[in-house]
Amino acid sequence: MLKEITPTGSAQLYIGGEWMPASDGAEMAVLDPSTGESVATVASGSVDDALNAVTAAYDASPTWAATPPRARAEILRKAYEIMIASADDLAELIVLEMGKALPEARAEVVYAAEFFRWFSEEAVRNIGSVATSPGGDKKIIAVHQPIGVSVLITPWNFPAAMATRKIGPAFAAGCAVILKPASDTPLTALALAKILEEAGAPAGSVNVLPSRRSGAVGEAMLTDPRVRNLSFTGSTEVGRRLLEVTSRHIVRSSMELGGNAPFVVFEDANIEEAVAGAMIAKMRNGGQSCIAANRILVHAAVADEFSEQFSAAMAAVKTGPGLEAGVDLGPMINEGAQQDMMELVGVSTGAGGSVATGGEAPSRPGFFFEPTVVTNIDLDNPILQREIFGPLAPVIRFDTEEEALAAANDTEHGLAAYVYTEDLKRGMRVAEAIEAGMVGINRGLISDPAAPFGGVKESGLGREGGTYGMFEFLETKYIAAYW
Ligand code: NAP
Repeated sequence: MLKEITPTGSAQLYIGGEWMPASDGAEMAVLDPSTGESVATVASGSVDDALNAVTAAYDASPTWAATPPRARAEILRKAYEIMIASADDLAELIVLEMGKALPEARAEVVYAAEFFRWFSEEAVRNIGSVATSPGGDKKIIAVHQPIGVSVLITPWNFPAAMATRKIGPAFAAGCAVILKPASDTPLTALALAKILEEAGAPAGSVNVLPSRRSGAVGEAMLTDPRVRNLSFTGSTEVGRRLLEVTSRHIVRSSMELGGNAPFVVFEDANIEEAVAGAMIAKMRNGGQSCIAANRILVHAAVADEFSEQFSAAMAAVKTGPGLEAGVDLGPMINEGAQQDMMELVGVSTGAGGSVATGGEAPSRPGFFFEPTVVTNIDLDNPILQREIFGPLAPVIRFDTEEEALAAANDTEHGLAAYVYTEDLKRGMRVAEAIEAGMVGINRGLISDPAAPFGGVKESGLGREGGTYGMFEFLETKYIAAYW
C-alpha cells in the first residue's frame, strides 16, 4: 500500500516537479504510533533543498498565476476525484503514520478532498469591484492578485486536511507553494504530492519538503525575499516564533494555532444530545484536535446527570490500533503526547479533581491513553489553562450564565466554543459574547470546508475555508482610473 501511493526509495522530496533525495542524504524514520516501530524512512530536507524549493516555486509563479482560473480549478477538481478514488489507501496511510481509528481516517480523507473540490469552485470567483469615487473624479477599481510564493507548514493531527486546506486556496488564487509537513506524518503529504502531480499540477506549482530540521528550513524560506506568504497551522508557541521570523520581511502570515474550547451545557439543554455532542467535540481525532472541547462547563442543576452519562460514554470507547475493526480510539501521536496526558491528569487531580473514568496509559506497546473524565474541577484548577491535546475531559460546574461566560472567556485562546441550550435566544446571545472564532450551537461538529475556520486572541490570524480562505493568498490592488 505504501508502495502504490507514496514514492519509495530515498527520492522523497518533491521539488520543481522532480522526486529527489535530501541534498545531504539525510533521512528520518516514520513511526507507527500503535507500536512505536518504524514503518518507513523518508528524506529529510536541508536548508539547500528548501531554497531550491523556493526557486522552483518562484520560477513557476508567473506562468501559474497567469494560468486561467478554470484550468487551475480543473486540476483541483481532478485531485479531488483521485483522492476520493484512493480514499481507502489514503485512510490506511493516515492510520499508519498518525494512529487515528480507520473510520476517522476515512472521514478525514473526504473532508480533506472537499477542500480541493470547494476551492476548485472558488477559483473561478476571484471577484473584484469597481466604484465611482465620492468626488466623481475617477473610478476606484479593486482587483485581487495572487500574493506569490507561499510556504505552508502543517501539523500531524490531520495530515491530509491541514495540507489541502492550504493548497486548495493557494491554487485557486494562483500561488505556487512549498508544503513542509510535520515530521511525524510526512507520508500523507507525499501521497498528496503524487495526487497533484497526476492531476496535472505543473512543475514547481507544488513542492513538498519533509524535514526534521523545521526551524532552520522554515527560517531559510521565510527570510528569502522571494517568499511572500506563510500559512501555518500548529501550536501557538511555534506560531509566535514564526511571526518573529516573518516580521523581518513583513511576510503575510496566517496562523491557525492552538485552542482551549469551552463546551457549555445549560440547564435547559437536551442532555442526551449534549453528551453525544461532547463525545464528538472532545473525542474526534482522539482529542488531538485544535477545536477539541477541553473545558466542559455544565450547569449545576444537570451536572450529575451529564457527568454520569458522559463518563459512561467515554468508558465505552474502544481503544486499540487504528486499523483494528471496531476501534474508536487509536494511540496518541508519540510518547511525549502520552506523557502529557499523564501529567495533565496529575495536574487536575492535584488541584482537587477526581477521575471518573480512565486516567491511565494502558500497559501495551504504542502510545495509548484511556478515555478520561475528571470531575470536581474548580474554576481555578490549572488544567483549565492548558491545551489538552488528547482524550481527557475536565468537567466544571457553574451556576449562572454570567459565570459560564466568564469561565469560557478566561483563556488566552479563542478558537472554537460549543453551547448547548434549547433556548435559541440564549444560544445566540452566548455565541456572540464568547471570545472565539467559531461557535457550535447544539452541535459538536463544526468543521466544514465551506465555512470560515479560524481563531481570535492567541488562537490565530486569518481564516481558512469558505469564501474567505482564498483571500489569505491574494493581495488587493487599487487602480485609480479616469476615462
Ligand atoms: P507544532 O509543534 O507547532 O508543529 C506544527 C508544524 O510546525 C510542524 O510541521 C512542525 O515541524 C513545524 N515547526 C515546529 N517548529 C518549527 C519552527 N521553529 N520553524 C518552522 N516550523 C516549525 O504543532 P503540532 O504538535 O504539530 O500540532 C499540534 C498543535 O497544532 C496544537 O497546538 C493544535 O491546537 C494546533 N492545531 C491548530 C489548528 C488550527 O486550525 N487552529 C489545527 C490543527 C492543529 P516538525 O514536525 O518537524 O516539528
